[in-house]
Amino acid sequence: MYYFVDYHCHTLTSGDNSQTMEELVSSAAERGVRELCITEHFNFMPGTYCFGRFSYRDHDDRRRRLASLFPDVRILLGLEMDYMPEFMPLIRQIGRDMPLDYYIGSCHMSNGKHVFSDDFFAGRSGEEAYNEYFQTVSGCVRQKTFDTIAHFDWVKRKGCEHWGPFDMAPYRDVIADILSDMIALDMTMEVSEAGLRHPAGETYPSYDILRLYRDLGGENITYASDSHSPQQTSAHNGEVYGALEQMGFRWITTFSGRKKTRRPITV
Ligand SMILES: [Zn+2]
Ligand SMILES: [Zn+2]
Repeated sequence: MYYFVDYHCHTLTSGDNSQTMEELVSSAAERGVRELCITEHFNFMPGTYCFGRFSYRDHDDRRRRLASLFPDVRILLGLEMDYMPEFMPLIRQIGRDMPLDYYIGSCHMSNGKHVFSDDFFAGRSGEEAYNEYFQTVSGCVRQKTFDTIAHFDWVKRKGCEHWGPFDMAPYRDVIADILSDMIALDMTMEVSEAGLRHPAGETYPSYDILRLYRDLGGENITYASDSHSPQQTSAHNGEVYGALEQMGFRWITTFSGRKKTRRPITV
C-alpha cells in the first residue's frame, strides 16, 4: 500500500477553480490521501485573478473544522507563490512570517510574460522559449526561498501545442544543472500528475527528467495533483506512485511548519 499525499491543490480562494475546501478534502479522502496540503495561488499584482483573496486565518478556521469531519486526512496549509524576481523581498517575508507548512515557488511568468499565453511563444523557436523558461526555473531555485518548484517543466503545457511532445534532450544540460542545484539545496521535487490531464499527457516533470534526477542522486520528492476540482484530486496517484517506485524512489517527503519528514513510499 502506498503512502498517498497530495501537496498541491486549490479551492475557490485561488480564483481560478470551482471547488470548496470541503469538496476538495472529501475527494482526497475518497482517493486514500493521507496528507493534503492546500496551496492557494498568491500574487502581488493587483488585477490578477488571485490578488488579495487569501486569508490565513479564514483558511486555518476552515481547515480545523474539516479536520474533525475527515479524521483520516491530515490537512496542511501552504501557498503557491508566483515567482517574480521583483517581488522577492515580499515573497521572502511571507515565507518567513506566515505559519505555513509548505511554500511553493511557481514559474507561471517568465520575464514578464505569462507562460500560458501565446505571447510567450510568438516569434521565436521552441528552443529559445524552452531555454528561457528553464533559466527562469533556475533563478527560482537559486532564490533559496521555496520548499519546492511547482510543475518543473510546465512550459510544455502550452509548448506542446506549438512544437509537439516535449523532449528534454536539447535541454538536458540546463535541466541537469537545475536538478543538481535542487539536490545541493535539499529542495523537494514536486511530482505532479496535472500534466496527465493536460495536452502534454505526461507528468510534470516528465519521467525522463525524474530518471535524470534519480541518476544525479535525487531522492527528495513529493506528490501533487494541482487539483482544481474534485475529479482532479489525486486521480492518478496509484499509477504514478507505481512508476516512481520502479524508477527507484523509496521515499515521499512531507512537511509540517516547513520542516521535512521522509516517509517510506509504501506502508
Ligand atoms: Zn501552478
Ligand atoms: Zn497550482
